[in-house]
Amino acid sequence: MADTATGRNIEAIRERIEAACIRSGRKISDVALMAVSKFHCLEKIEEAWDAGIGLFGENRVQEAAGKFGAGGHWQEKHPGAEIHLIGSLQRNKVKTAVSLVDCIESVDRDELIDELGKQCRDRESPLGLLLEINAGEASKSGFPGEGELFRGAEKVLSYPGLLPRGLMIMAPLTGEELRIRRAFRSLVHAGNELRKRFPQADWSCLSMGMSGDFEIAIEEGSSLVRIGTAIFGERRL
Ligand SMILES: *Cc1c(COP(=O)(O)O)cnc(C)c1O
Repeated sequence: MADTATGRNIEAIRERIEAACIRSGRKISDVALMAVSKFHCLEKIEEAWDAGIGLFGENRVQEAAGKFGAGGHWQEKHPGAEIHLIGSLQRNKVKTAVSLVDCIESVDRDELIDELGKQCRDRESPLGLLLEINAGEASKSGFPGEGELFRGAEKVLSYPGLLPRGLMIMAPLTGEELRIRRAFRSLVHAGNELRKRFPQADWSCLSMGMSGDFEIAIEEGSSLVRIGTAIFGERRL
């Protein structure tokens, strides 16, 4: 493995993930590590790939298209790599987004589900997606409550081109651990309810935890942590 700052950061994160798994009696293989590469260039992305990362997160369609190329050009040279969209998606960007990414984690409203369903009607393999839950407080994105979430899930299941894979949340940016835990627990609860109501689908992906709170998220049951800053350093805007 090339010795880069990115590679060393990834090693350190892996050790912390492992420690959090051991603490909470979980299997390391049950927690996937995503490198959030928004605002970072392809060179950094290659460094992460060389360090064994196969899952990348981008939050803007335009930026992701510029880096990875619509139609998966970058992915052709990186077999097995997966790109997820984790930022809010406008309707007029849906067409580009679905040609570019493997999963959309930030599905947060019915209107977006309808547009995704329409654009994915003729796909060879269905598009993976996660439903985003609103963590309350200052957060604007995400389904506000379980009622809205269940209706969204029903809508997703009515489109053959869409494949639900689980849930995503961004915890409030706060130093108060209890509030962060409460957000993560609300996602775990919603996931359990979805499994009961819609057992025909797979809701097993619980995407929660970022640089500042991923260890708490793992303790609460995360199966996918999205790490940007702790891998690539500060983002330059
Ligand atoms: C930017 C971003 C992350 C990564 O945040 P860091 O604090 O840099 O690790 C994770 N999830 C989402 C949805 C993001 O927008």
